[in-house]
Amino acid sequence: MGKKEIKKERIPVPERPAEERIKDFKEVKLGYTPELAIEEAKRCIQCPTAPCVEGCPVRVPIPQFIKLIAEGKFVEAARKIKEENILPSICGRVCPQEDQCEKVCVIGKIGQPVNIGGLEAFAGDYEARMGSEKIEKAEPTGKKVAIVGSGPGGITCAVDLAKLGHSVTIFEALHEPGGVLIYGIPEFRLPNEIVHRELEALKELGVEIKLNCVIGKTKTLEELRREFDAVFIASGAGLPYMLNIEGLNLNGVYSANEFLTRVNLMGAYRFPEYDTPVFAGKRLAVIGGGNTAMDVARTAKRLKGVEEVYIIYRRSEKEMPARVEEIHHAKEEGVIFKTLTNPVKFIGENGWLKGIECVRMELSEPDESGRRRPVPIEGSNFVIDVETVVLAIGQGPNPIVMEGVEGLEIGKWGQIIVDPETCQTSLEGVFAGGDVIHGGSTVIQAMGDARKAAAAIHEYLLEK
Ligand SMILES: Cc1cc2nc3c(=O)[nH]c(=O)nc-3n(C[C@H](O)[C@H](O)[C@H](O)COP(=O)(O)OP(=O)(O)OC[C@H]3O[C@@H](n4cnc5c(N)ncnc54)[C@H](O)[C@@H]3O)c2cc1C
Ligand code: SF4
Repeated sequence: MGKKEIKKERIPVPERPAEERIKDFKEVKLGYTPELAIEEAKRCIQCPTAPCVEGCPVRVPIPQFIKLIAEGKFVEAARKIKEENILPSICGRVCPQEDQCEKVCVIGKIGQPVNIGGLEAFAGDYEARMGSEKIEKAEPTGKKVAIVGSGPGGITCAVDLAKLGHSVTIFEALHEPGGVLIYGIPEFRLPNEIVHRELEALKELGVEIKLNCVIGKTKTLEELRREFDAVFIASGAGLPYMLNIEGLNLNGVYSANEFLTRVNLMGAYRFPEYDTPVFAGKRLAVIGGGNTAMDVARTAKRLKGVEEVYIIYRRSEKEMPARVEEIHHAKEEGVIFKTLTNPVKFIGENGWLKGIECVRMELSEPDESGRRRPVPIEGSNFVIDVETVVLAIGQGPNPIVMEGVEGLEIGKWGQIIVDPETCQTSLEGVFAGGDVIHGGSTVIQAMGDARKAAAAIHEYLLEK
């Protein structure tokens, strides 16, 4: 028998054309059909060492679930993923697979790696249409755990602990659970309906969610420590960094956090049907080159009345931290890239922004991060006329949750310090994970931390 020929190119996931999709907030990707999914799954050679599994922070059994898809057993494939990852439809859509499982897929050495993310989303969606399986739960242990934050970190830890029979309560500051999945990542990449659907698992497991409860204000961390046997902090990194330049307080200057929260969480793109407005003017610029910047730019493109959207980034496109796919989608949708450009002043008139004075940059020697340092070119200043600017230059942990707590070790940029093996903080019985320990990171990293913490919390509770 001849050697099986490997198809070098992946089967593309069907997408809506750019001209059509910028008119609404519906999902850009249409997802694999069963036929296409089977064809893509057959590209996996089922390598026994499966380096892809090592590349996944929660160790999804990748070859096994892909084999089930190749055999047409789609529901079984989703259940196989769910043994390790409760949120396949979410992770399949938003994980940076090109830096994780797909980066090490052996097919990537001779062609394009297997589309592991696309297949994961397909399986998750398929199972949801068929009706998910009941999740098994251990006998109640009588132990109570409090979780601060309902983003991917909090959700994953809650699921793991509830499955082990512990009683879990999540405390969430906002009026809806989901963290960045709901208020940050736009619907055209991750529909809110999918987040709501995957959160059903929490209800099924009897996890209680207390909304509108800010730990550090409504209730303190010390109170949680007294009332519960253990605490997991997954409060994220929702505090935006702002540029310290003239004109920051003009009307029309937003943080990415505020802009995206208005549009995604509060539904401002449907104003006046929804009562939260968002002002975007005719021309809008986004400062930054990460995924958040791309999300803001693509969101702005979809708002009524917005004609031109710019990305202003001080390095070149090669250094942009955003996913290649995101940059590609933004360009297809008509976002204009102004790279090697840095804002120096926001110019106003009657209290409203009317332009950004920028300076052109050039790249010099690499800095500590290994990236070439951008330096301004003297005398190259110019103005970009815009009515709105959105700052997407990064964010750090919000200190409210740590307010008044003694003995909690905090790092120099406000992150909670933990033991990397167990996610245990300097306080007994208090664990932390996700963006609150790393700063802006990824969904799967938060889930990986949460799994580690849940295992350590379980051990701690058994010994207590
Ligand atoms: C715009 C944007 C796009 C992104 N795109 C991607 C992507 O495509 N792929 C990817 O992998 N990652 C992406 N990320 C990063 C990813 O979303 C985060 O790394 C991840 O959500 C972190 O999870 P978490 O559970 O630690 O925190 P979060 O998701 O931030 O959740 C924290 C929750 O805690 C709540 N909270 C905060 N303080 C308190 C308090 N004191 N009391 C009670 N509740 C509190 C918050 O309201 C929030 O709901 C993106 C981030 C942003 C902002
Ligand atoms: S590394 Fe690639 S080919 Fe090998 S098992 Fe994983 S997905 Fe399949």
